[in-house]
Amino acid sequence: MDRRTLLAATPVLAAAGTAAAQPAAPALVGRPMPKLEQPEPLPPDRRVGFAVVGLGKFALNQILPAMGECRKARLAAVVSGDPAKGARIAAQHGAPRHYTYENFDEVARDLAVQVVYVILPNVFHRPFTERALRAGKHVLCEKPLATTAADARAMIAAARSADRWLMTAYRAQYEGFNREAIRRARSGELGPLRLITSDHGRPVKPEDPADEWRIRQALSGGGSLHDVGVYAVNAMRYLSGEEPAEAFATIASDPADPRFREVEDRVAWQFRMPSGLLTQGSTSYSYRETKRLTVFGEKATLRMDPATDYDLRRMWLAPEGETETEILLPLRNQFAAMMDHMAESVLENRAPRTPGEEGLRDLLAIEAIHESARTGRWVRVPPV
Ligand code: NAD
Repeated sequence: MDRRTLLAATPVLAAAGTAAAQPAAPALVGRPMPKLEQPEPLPPDRRVGFAVVGLGKFALNQILPAMGECRKARLAAVVSGDPAKGARIAAQHGAPRHYTYENFDEVARDLAVQVVYVILPNVFHRPFTERALRAGKHVLCEKPLATTAADARAMIAAARSADRWLMTAYRAQYEGFNREAIRRARSGELGPLRLITSDHGRPVKPEDPADEWRIRQALSGGGSLHDVGVYAVNAMRYLSGEEPAEAFATIASDPADPRFREVEDRVAWQFRMPSGLLTQGSTSYSYRETKRLTVFGEKATLRMDPATDYDLRRMWLAPEGETETEILLPLRNQFAAMMDHMAESVLENRAPRTPGEEGLRDLLAIEAIHESARTGRWVRVPPV
């Protein structure tokens, strides 16, 4: 029944036949399904269950709230070192189960959990990924995938032999503005790409518990480059669709600053891409929060600032000879989109867009950057 026919058929309470009678109130009726802006969510029993490991700043502020916007993923369990916190957070977010780091392996018997999402300090990414794979679960693992390329390779091999998917949680690659930037950069719309620049940094604050471990090499595996510089490294690769052939870099850290006793502060680097495209990046744990990138093509320049923020993305296009104009797009929840992608990989049994290899490639580039800074020479970035 169309809208007009339905309106005509809507029963109206009969008015008394006198002039003084009040107009009858319309009755409540069911209406046709409205047009949806996004596909309908799956019913809970058909969604893919996620166990979130590590209830720190990122898990509690971004990931667990984003579960409410998922259409294919649902929260099935949380894992915390503190059982009371685990129970409280599980209750708040409707997770039927909670585990500790000690009894986590029991998740093998939990059929509601299909994916384990590792959100721990970087050095624990490999051991928890391997435990989850041994328990028969697929793994979504936070960035950087591991502290070293060797660990990342071991995780990929473990996933392959367990016949489970391993996905690197590169949220930007599931986010609308970045997807649009990839489309424009790779479609030729900007002309042949000449240079990509990206700067990602923020002041690290050891008084924040989430930053305490970030300045300990044994827990983080590295400083600003592993933590935030990885967004720039990843963006240079996903915007161009090319893998860096060589890296050149300089690293500088103030020896008097206690934050940089173990990890680096500022890194400036360049990649030579196989096509001749150059990229230039910077990262820091001591400059003002910055998350920007620019793609310089022969026909146009595309700029994003912020490019990889949690809540805001902005993008401008400047064609040759014209003024820059802003490109407006809807802001959607990138965390939910990323988790739904992992859920789709499980439901459809297909490799995720950002598999373990995607995290490994960035770690190989990061290691080449460190080696170049040590040796003062261009360093070849090895293939996966
Ligand atoms: P956090 O310190 O807030 O959380 C870490 C969690 O691990 C806490 O629950 C903590 O209790 C637990 N933990 C267990 N053993 C620990 C130990 N020995 N030392 C410290 N913590 C320990 O950190 P976070 O900011 O939530 O980061 C966690 C992971 O998520 C990191 O790998 C980080 O790179 C990643 N992350 C990703 C994004 C993103 O946008 N993709 C944003 C922030 C963090």
